[in-house]
Amino acid sequence: MTPEELSAALRELGEPAFRGKQVFTWLHRGVRSFDEMSDIPKPLRAKLAGEYQVAGLTAERKQVSRTDGTVKYLWRLQDGNCIETVLMRYHHGNTVCISSQVGCRMGCAFCASTLGGRVRNLMPGEMVEQVLFTRADSGAEVSNIVLMGIGEPMDNLDNVLKFLELVNHPMGMNIGMRHISLSTCGLIPGIRRLAELELQLTLSVSLHAPDGETRSRIMPVNRAWDVDALFAACHDYFARTGRRISFEYAMIDGVNDADWQADLIVKKLRGMPGHVNLIPLNDVAESPLKPSRRVRQFQQRLERQGIAATVRRSLGGDIDASCGQLRRREMEREREERKLC
Ligand code: SAH
Repeated sequence: MTPEELSAALRELGEPAFRGKQVFTWLHRGVRSFDEMSDIPKPLRAKLAGEYQVAGLTAERKQVSRTDGTVKYLWRLQDGNCIETVLMRYHHGNTVCISSQVGCRMGCAFCASTLGGRVRNLMPGEMVEQVLFTRADSGAEVSNIVLMGIGEPMDNLDNVLKFLELVNHPMGMNIGMRHISLSTCGLIPGIRRLAELELQLTLSVSLHAPDGETRSRIMPVNRAWDVDALFAACHDYFARTGRRISFEYAMIDGVNDADWQADLIVKKLRGMPGHVNLIPLNDVAESPLKPSRRVRQFQQRLERQGIAATVRRSLGGDIDASCGQLRRREMEREREERKLC
């Protein structure tokens, strides 16, 4: 809830409206119970605890990378489902990568998050708590948020927009839109809706192939919203917001790493200052796709033709830190346990 919504809820309990702001401030400090809200009168704390609940997430598992300090949390939700959050430490500040759905229904061939389909959308509060509790547990100040965990943010856009409002709120974490990235596999209506809002966040688009044939093969979403319509939406997005789009490109051996594909990216990005972020493919056990050995060559080919291209540094390799891998393990463990029972 926003402070205004909290005030309205408190007024219904016969309380003055200013309590809404107080409760909001406490919540966004990351408390886990009403009892920690020390300047709220005790009887009100008890009343609130009778009507509402603070924390929806509990830490089920935490893994800390020995090599780079990346922390991965597996959270248990109220309904028993699990999601993941990753804390990455960069020179320019700490970044929290959050999940937006339990599972995903987009079906990308290389992604572990989508293997079991989508179970449900996350509520705004469940997304906010991932950031709050990661900060509280790790003691790390959070300067950036990326919506690049499990789920497709634009398949849950109303809740994601509410989440953005909450983390951006000056009375809460006050994280500036320019410090937030939202990644989509290319749901065009969502991109168009976001463009109209003219938020200053960074839009990341999971491109992974510039030609329809390859893209449809590895990303079923391309059959509904094809890559040329996607590029058109990206051009419009830039024209409307003036924000440079970041294109994610997981390099897959023999699938999307050919020279002609680099050249096609160059051609289709013409007229828009895009940035291509090449991702060394993370090996997912269930997938036959293998990492490309041409990442540097591909990067150089893009750069020579004037396209900014970087290779994403891989963090947390020793802790299954990429999307969906830890949740998947947990689901398997639970299944094994049930068999044993
Ligand atoms: N659903 C959104 C958010 C996920 S973001 C989206 O598709 O953009 C996570 C990024 O990691 C996406 O670009 C996704 O395509 C990519 N990704 C998924 N599995 C991967 C893997 N095995 N190796 C490298 N990148 C992967």
